[in-house]
Parts: sequence; structure tokens; C-alpha cells
Amino acid sequence: MVAQVIDGKAFAAKVRAQVADQVAKLKEENGITPGLAVVLVGEDPASQVYVRSKGKMTVEVGMNSYEHKLDAETSEEDLLALIDKLNNDPAVHGILVQLPLPKHLNEDLVINSIDPAKDVDGFHISNVGLLGTGQKSMVPCTPLGCLMMLRDYHGSLSGMDAVVIGRSNIVGKPMAQLLLGDSCTVTIAHSRTKNLPDVVRRADIVVAAVGRPEMVPGDWIKEGATVIDVGINRIERDGKNKLVGDVDYASAAERAGAITPVPGGVGPMTIACLLANTLTACCRANGLPEPEGLTA
Ligand code: NAD
Repeated sequence: MVAQVIDGKAFAAKVRAQVADQVAKLKEENGITPGLAVVLVGEDPASQVYVRSKGKMTVEVGMNSYEHKLDAETSEEDLLALIDKLNNDPAVHGILVQLPLPKHLNEDLVINSIDPAKDVDGFHISNVGLLGTGQKSMVPCTPLGCLMMLRDYHGSLSGMDAVVIGRSNIVGKPMAQLLLGDSCTVTIAHSRTKNLPDVVRRADIVVAAVGRPEMVPGDWIKEGATVIDVGINRIERDGKNKLVGDVDYASAAERAGAITPVPGGVGPMTIACLLANTLTACCRANGLPEPEGLTA
């Protein structure tokens, strides 16, 4: 079997176009422009790249982008004061604090100071609790993007066996909750899981979110399974820098029914879902119906 490639780049462009349409409608019919505030503390080069591309895409879909770049030495008090200001600013519908934060700042405290209704990353404990109890919440962008691709490919996921490799708060755990919400039978595997190959072999859906280059070989994949590769790993091969996932793409594509490539799979969906979440937050804040197909 040769797997169908799930084209995350094309899918993300479609999601962004949907968001842009809805934003245009909001402006025309309600005089509202959704606004996303991104807070970056320090000069981490990767974070700077992410923040720049988030800002660019926010503007491209017609939303307002507010970038707050703070010095690496910024005190917790000053950061919390900025978040308080953004929480109370009616022009700001979404707030994202770029992680990781410098070591002297308490990440949990900072994230939990964001108004949960504006927490477009879905990391606030209230949103985690709402998701875990099947209530309306803000859903973390990367797992939301994975869910959208799975729903698009399969239609219903009900009754499917899903294995999520990785138990992080930003990907693994919320991914498992979303799959459970769609009535999959879910296993969360992690660094202490015994006999990982056999656990993965029984899955109809494999979501790999580990951060280890090509650790899942094709012979762990059940014939016809759907493979969602969240991993982004920079490696050097044949003297060149390359991005690879957590799955060995070449061998997995020979057994899977469908697979996401790296790059061009989950990655582009993450920012598209951030924009979708900002739109959702804006609609909720204004008592308007939520955009269809853009939430969990
Ligand atoms: P993390 O380091 O927080 O978590 C990794 C998880 O992998 C842990 O729960 C750990 O138990 C598990 N693990 C480690 N070694 C293992 C092993 N040998 N076998 C099984 N499980 C093992 O990572 P994260 O933040 O969840 O990110 C995971 C990967 O996804 C990284 O490559 C990251 O860059 C990528 N990522 C991509 C996007 C995107 O937009 N595409 C977003 C977030 C993260």
C-alpha cells in the first residue's frame, strides 16, 4: 500500500481562507475586527521567527495584530501587568504568550493569568479542565489542527483505535482528549511505555509527538493506518540540514493508508488554528454564532 499524503499546507491555506471570509463578514455586518496580541519575552531566535510569521498571517486574514516584545530581563510583575491590560482591552480577543519564557518567569502563573476566554493557545487550567470534561473551551492549536485533518480524511472517528505517542500538556494530552471526544479508543504512550512497537501496531490512528527524529519505523504501523506526525526535528544528513518528523516517512508511507509529511503536515495547521481560535474567541465575546468547522 502506498499512503495518501495528507497535505497540511493546502489544508491550512483552506482554513485560513475560511477564517478570512468570516473576518470580512464580521467587519461588514457587525463592524468588529478580531484582534490577536502576541507577547514575546526575550530574543530566542526560533520564537522570534514564530512570532513574526504569526503576526504576518494574522494581518493576512484581516485581523489586527498587536505585538509586544519585552526585554529578556522583564520582571514577572511587569509581564502580569501587561497581560492584565490585554485582558481588559476590548480590541484584543486572543492573547498568546510565546513559550518558552526566560527561566526567572513562572510559566504556569503567567499562562493562568490570561483571561481563559482570550487564551487562544488553550493552555490555561480552566480550558484544560473544560476540554477534559467535554465542555466548550479554547483548544490547543496543534492538536486541533491534527483533529481537523483526521476528521477531514475519515469523516467519523468513532470506535477507531488511536495511539498518541507523547504525553506533553501542549500536544499529547489534549490530543488524547480530543480523540476521546470523537469516540476513539485512546492509548497514550510515553517514554516509559513497555513494548511500544506492539502498542503502535494495533492503532488505526497514530499521532506521534515525541521530538525524536524518525523513531517510529514503518514496521510499527498497521497496514492502512492513518499517521499524523507532529514531530519537528532538525538533523544533518548528507552534509545538509533537514527537517524530519518522529516517524520514518519513507517506510511508514509504504504501510499507512494516509500520512502527514514533515515539513508540510501538522506545522502549517498550527498557525491556521491559532487564527481560527482568535476568530472563535471574538465571536464568543460578541455573543455571535461560532464559525462552523473551525472548532472542536
Ligand atoms: P515534549 O518534549 O514536551 O514531550 C515529548 C513526549 O514524548 C514526552 O511526553 C515523553 O514521555 C515522550 N517520549 C520521549 N521519549 C520517548 C520514547 N522513546 N518513546 C515514547 N515516548 C517518548 O514535546 P512536545 O512539546 O509535545 O513536542 C513533541 C514534538 O512535536 C517535538 O518535535 C516538537 O518540536 C513538535 N511540535 C510540533 C508542533 C507543530 O506545530 N507541528 C507543535 C508543538 C510541538
